[in-house]
Amino acid sequence: MFFTKEKLWRRLDEVALYRYDKKCPITIFQSAEDKDGAISARPENVVYDDELKVGANWAGRDRYLWLKATVKFPALKENTRLIGYFDFGNTGDGHNSGFESLLFVDGKPFQGVDQNHREVLFPDSFAGTTAELTFRLWSGLEGGGIPTIQTHQLKEAFIGYLQLSIDDLYFTSKAALKTVDELEENNPSHAKLLQAINRAFLAIDWSIPGSPTNIASMETANQLLQTGVKEIPKNFPVKVAAVGHTHIDVAWLWRLKHTREKAARSFSTVLHLMEDYPEYLFLQSQPQLYAYIKEDYPEIYEKIKAKIKDGAWEADGGMWLEADCNIPSGESLVRQMLYGQKFLREEFGKPSSFLWLPDVFGYSWALPQILRKSGIKTFMTTKISWNQYNRMPHDTFQWRGIDGTEILTHFITAPEKNSHISTYNGKMTARELAGLWTKYQDKEINQELLLAYGYGDGGGGVNREMLEMRRRYDTMPGIPEVKPKSATDYFNDLHETIENTDQYVHTWNGELYFEYHRGTYTSQAFTKKMNRKIELGLRDSEWLSVLANLQQGTTYPTKKLADIWQILLRNQFHDIIPGSSIKEVYDDALIEYTEAMTENTALIAEQLTNLTTAADETITLWNSSTWSRAPGRC
Ligand SMILES: [Zn+2]
Repeated sequence: MFFTKEKLWRRLDEVALYRYDKKCPITIFQSAEDKDGAISARPENVVYDDELKVGANWAGRDRYLWLKATVKFPALKENTRLIGYFDFGNTGDGHNSGFESLLFVDGKPFQGVDQNHREVLFPDSFAGTTAELTFRLWSGLEGGGIPTIQTHQLKEAFIGYLQLSIDDLYFTSKAALKTVDELEENNPSHAKLLQAINRAFLAIDWSIPGSPTNIASMETANQLLQTGVKEIPKNFPVKVAAVGHTHIDVAWLWRLKHTREKAARSFSTVLHLMEDYPEYLFLQSQPQLYAYIKEDYPEIYEKIKAKIKDGAWEADGGMWLEADCNIPSGESLVRQMLYGQKFLREEFGKPSSFLWLPDVFGYSWALPQILRKSGIKTFMTTKISWNQYNRMPHDTFQWRGIDGTEILTHFITAPEKNSHISTYNGKMTARELAGLWTKYQDKEINQELLLAYGYGDGGGGVNREMLEMRRRYDTMPGIPEVKPKSATDYFNDLHETIENTDQYVHTWNGELYFEYHRGTYTSQAFTKKMNRKIELGLRDSEWLSVLANLQQGTTYPTKKLADIWQILLRNQFHDIIPGSSIKEVYDDALIEYTEAMTENTALIAEQLTNLTTAADETITLWNSSTWSRAPGRC
C-alpha cells in the first residue's frame, strides 16, 4: 500500500497525545538542596526553603534535590485510570548517565521516576484524596569521561486520567506496526495486519482533534483493531519466555553509594508495576543488592520478600554478585557461590539452580565443576556474543569443565539494535522477538527462547510500555508468542527439552574465552594486587583460626571472616576488579581493600598469639604450606 505505513506512524503519534487527560497540572514545586547526598535519605525532616517552577532548568553533577507538591486527585471516571506524569530530566541510554529520582507518596517510597519511567499509576482509592508527592532528584553523572555538569529541565508534571481505550488503541497499533516492520512483504500476515490497522484508523474522525467526537471515534477504532488482529492466525510455533529484569552494575560509571539508590528506585518501580500487572515476573540476581536494600530501605525489602513468596519476584542467580570469572581465584569463585547461595537460602528459603552472568567478560574452564558442586545445573550468559572475531558455534549446549563435569548452558540471542551482539537489556520489541529465533543456532533441539527485558546497566528496569507491549506481541502474527515466565521455570523446561530430544546436543570442552575487553587483564593493577594478597591472607587467617579453635578452643571468628570475604567478593564485581570503572570506584575500592587487609592482618596476628606461647630468646616460625620447608629456604 502506498505510504500506508508512514501515514499510520504519523497518526499514531497523534493518538498518543490523547491518552492523557491532563486534569491537574502541577506548575510549581517546593524545593530543598540535599547537600549530604546521604544513602537512603528520607523526606520527613526536609526543610523546603526554595521553589522550582515547571519549565525551569536545574543542573548539577552528583546533585540531589528534594521537590515537593501537595496534590488533590480527581474523582473516579469510567474507563480511565488515575495517572501522574513527570518529565524532570534526561536519563542516558541504559541508565548509565543523567537523571533519576525516587517518588515518595506521603513519605513512603512509591516508584522510580526517570526519562523511561515518567508515568506513575495511582490506585482508584486515591480518587478525591489529597497526597504529598516528594521526589528525591539526582542529577546523575556523565557516564564516564570528563566530569560534566548535567543540565535538566523540569518540563512537565500533571495528575490526570489515563484514557484506557485510547491507550489500548495506541499500544495495539504500535505493536502491530512494529510487527509489520519485521515481516517480509510476501508474508500474508504483513498485508493483513497493515489492513487491520488502516481500517481502524480510517474510522477516526480527525475534524476537531481532542473533541468528544474525535475521542469517541478512537474508541470505535480500537474495537475494530482488536477484532481485526484477532482474525489473523498467529502461525508461529516458537515461544519466548519473558523475564523482567534490570541489570544493575554494582559499580561502573557510578559508585557503590549510587548503586544503593539505583536499587531502591528500580525495585520500587518493579513492586509498583506488579500491582497493576499481576502477570509480571521479575528476576534480581545479586544478593549484594538485597543486602544493601535490607539495610537502607527495610520497607522495600519486606515488600520484595512478600513478592518472592508469591512467586512474582525471583531471587536467584547463584553468586554473591555477578563476579568477574578470570581474575578471582578458584577459592573466590567457590565463595561467590557459597555466600550467594547461603544468602538466598537463609533470606528467601531457596538457593538458585542456575548461574546468571549476562555481562561477565569471559568464563573460566573451572566453572562447570564449581557450579555443579554448588547446586547449580544451568549456566546463562549473553556477553559472549560480543566476541570480536569468532561467534560461539552454539547457543544451547553442554559445557564441559576441566574435570569432565558438564553443565547445560544457554545464551540469550535477542539482537541489540543495529549490532551483531545480543542483549540482556531487552526493550520488548518485535525486532528482539523475531531476532531471538533468527539468531538462534540450535533450532532443531529447542523452540523456546529466553528474553531478559528491562532497562539496565544502571538499573531502571521494565516500564509500563514494555508490559503493555508484551501483552500485545503475544497475539501478533508472524512472530513468536511471548509469555512471562520465571528463569527457573524456563531452565527447568529447557533441561526437559534437552533430555528428550532425539537431536544431537553439542558439547564445548574448554574455557568460554571472551574475545573483547582484553585490557581488563591489566587495567587498575592495584585492585588486582590487593585482591590476590587478601585471597592469600584469608587462606592463612582461616587456617590459623581453625587451628586455634582445635588446639586452644578459641571461638572461630565466623562473622569477622565473612565480613572480610564480603569486601573481597564485592570488589570482584565484573566492572570493579577488571578495571572498567571510573576513578571514584577505585578510590572506594582502595578504602575497602585497606579495611579488609587491616582486619585480616590483625586476625592473623591474634590467632598466632593464641597459638604461641612467648618465651625468651625464642622465635616461632609457622609453615602454612602443605609441604616441609627446609631451614634457610622458608
Ligand atoms: Zn554489567
